[in-house]
Amino acid sequence: MARRLTAEQYTKGLLAGDRLVLSRAITLVESTLATDHALAQQVLGAVLPRTGRSVRIGITGVPGVGKSTFIEALGMYVVEQLGLRLAVLAIDPTSQRSGGSILGDKTRMQHLSAHANAYIRPSPAGRSLGGVARATREALLLCEAAGYDVIFVETVGVGQSETAVHGMVDFFLLLMLAGAGDELQGVKRGIMEMADAVVITKADSGNELAAKRARREYQGALHLFPLGSSGWAPVVRTCSALTGEGVPGVWEELQRYLEHARGNGYFERRRQEQNLQWLHHSIREALEERFYARPAVQQQLGAIREQVMRGEKSAFAAADELLDL
Ligand code: GDP
Repeated sequence: MARRLTAEQYTKGLLAGDRLVLSRAITLVESTLATDHALAQQVLGAVLPRTGRSVRIGITGVPGVGKSTFIEALGMYVVEQLGLRLAVLAIDPTSQRSGGSILGDKTRMQHLSAHANAYIRPSPAGRSLGGVARATREALLLCEAAGYDVIFVETVGVGQSETAVHGMVDFFLLLMLAGAGDELQGVKRGIMEMADAVVITKADSGNELAAKRARREYQGALHLFPLGSSGWAPVVRTCSALTGEGVPGVWEELQRYLEHARGNGYFERRRQEQNLQWLHHSIREALEERFYARPAVQQQLGAIREQVMRGEKSAFAAADELLDL
């Protein structure tokens, strides 16, 4: 990898929308090296006034539901029809593959990844969910500084990562299949509750009626949830990423949501709350890092772990002892 840039070079390049610098800046925020961390924070601090102006959209759904095909279709609509600049980020904490995960893989979004106004970045690999989520949130800010108008954050709808994505976006989109069973395809109730919109995918090739039926069913199920503090009633749409049918309709729902949430002040309030959440998240992360980095802790941790495992000491007492070192 090429020599590191200076904070000024990163900042200038980002604000000029230089994609190469953007990629290198994201690599920097993904780094676990202490020296990179300091430089990354310097760069983030410098570009912060130029962040916050994009629309941040979370997209989730079980593997195979059609996320990447949908992102390619909606993404092409955004860059071609609307003339906006789009960045696609991904969160996949299960990925151990070096060089990035399946999610956000450029080969999955052929046209989009070749488009001058689209930027696609896979999930950082081989880290804890907390680490992946922090890196992705910082990458999101960097993309905004680089002038991207719309940010998609993609995740697999099977674990905890949806909550992390929900905590960094304005609008949360859940993709579902028609006729795959009433048990909501293993999608947990909690994820349904986070959705601002549910999109029934693959409404084509004879699947249209089933999709319509699923739309009514999910709309009925969503009505049973109490309205969140946004006051927005989640909507259900059908679409085919293959034919493009219904894709602009999803964008229209987003526009309706933005009008609603900006109108009642929720949009701004939620961003402020998210910033606070990230503050506390960062404090917890930093505290834990510093704790484990202390020489006294490193020296004694092994012995105390043994005592806890053998039941000679309670976990609580052991934690106290280590914290007092
Ligand atoms: P992901 O795992 O959620 O990213 O799903 P993919 O986008 O990779 O799609 C999984 C499979 O469904 C692929 O074989 C796609 O070609 C297919 N697929 C995705 N979207 C559609 C659609 O709108 N209609 C049809 N018929 N097939 C689709």
